[in-house]
Amino acid sequence: MTTMNLPLVSTCSAEGCSYNHDHDCHAAAITITGATSACGTYVDEAAKAGVDATGQVGACHRSDCVHNSALECGAESVEIGAGADVADCLTYSAAG
Ligand code: SF4
Repeated sequence: MTTMNLPLVSTCSAEGCSYNHDHDCHAAAITITGATSACGTYVDEAAKAGVDATGQVGACHRSDCVHNSALECGAESVEIGAGADVADCLTYSAAG
């Protein structure tokens, strides 16, 4: 997989994150972590940050997700928003 076809963050409702610009993620690449699919890239700093492009999923530790292969996300895009944490991957789906 090249960075050209990493899954896009289609929308993110975690408005408190520095990378969040009007529900668009502007981190170059996010990492999904842990048992709750938390966005490990979330950061609450005063200044807005990131790149001039929509964020992508660089890595995902949620190996039990149907979209996960070798700790990479194979979904076309993901939605991030409040779940168990302030920002979780809402596209997570438990593998059968
Ligand atoms: S859809 Fe699944 S594999 Fe992709 S980022 Fe979310 S939890 Fe990880």
